[in-house]
Amino acid sequence: MRKAQRVDLHSHSTASDGVLTPSELVKRAAQNRVALFALTDHDTVAGLAEAREAAGQFGVPFVAGVEISVSFAGETIHVVGLGIDETAPALTAGLKQVRRGRTARARKMAAALEACGFADVWEGALRFVRNPDLISRAHFARYLVHAGHFSSMNAVFAHYLAKGKPGYVDHQWATLQEAVSWIHAAGGVAVVAHPGRYRLSEREWNALLAEFVDLGGDAIEVITSAHDPNATNHWVHICRRYGLAASQGSDFHAPEESPWDLGALGHTLPDDLVPVWQRWQ
Ligand code: AMP
Ligand code: MN
Ligand code: MN
Ligand code: MN
Repeated sequence: MRKAQRVDLHSHSTASDGVLTPSELVKRAAQNRVALFALTDHDTVAGLAEAREAAGQFGVPFVAGVEISVSFAGETIHVVGLGIDETAPALTAGLKQVRRGRTARARKMAAALEACGFADVWEGALRFVRNPDLISRAHFARYLVHAGHFSSMNAVFAHYLAKGKPGYVDHQWATLQEAVSWIHAAGGVAVVAHPGRYRLSEREWNALLAEFVDLGGDAIEVITSAHDPNATNHWVHICRRYGLAASQGSDFHAPEESPWDLGALGHTLPDDLVPVWQRWQ
């Protein structure tokens, strides 16, 4: 086995649904001796300038990233872009298009949750939002936990916010083709994030991976806090079968919430896989 590397290529700041500012996040990465760090906020690059500046100050090797929301086979898929030029017009225009509709969706979620009997959901969730352009289900979950209705965000998702639950509002995100092409137009590499989280049939997975490879997609996030060791193993095999590189990241959102701290990843990639971060080391 390759030596464990404190490489963390998936994290969130206040620019999306994380609770630390980009600078606080980078400071934490420095304290955790992260060897290579990427900020990958949902559908926005608004936190990258601050993160890059802090990374320079704290001496943390930094990769600019983004996590794009995609609709595929009726499911929401996340595609991480790494090593992007966040000023690339195709990417910024695409992300703007994906963000459009998030606020209207959030209003509908608030109304749906209020219809379930929770009070002041809109105002409550907004107190947790730092980027008004980017309201996520996580902000609603945080509010409902904070207001004492649930003991964990997981419980809110399980009962109200997951697909099919009463607080869930369907939304049309980017297509897989759009996400990969925007990332490539920005000079980045495209990574299927936390694949173990999606509820797709084997047929749908085959279709997704075939299309991803066809589009020139680059990697799969093999090591993530969303995978247990069995899932990690499964995605290692898929990387081999499709000739895709492998990525890893904590998907850190908040000290009190996230199962893995920045850089503290529970597993190591097998030697034969190509680490997607090779090009930045
Ligand atoms: P959205 O992009 O608005 O659909 O929100 C998705 C976000 O909700 C994810 O990025 C996570 O931060 C959060 N999330 C999804 N499922 C869970 C869960 N089971 N527990 C806690 N947070 C979750
Ligand atoms: Mn999130
Ligand atoms: Mn995600
Ligand atoms: Mn994420």
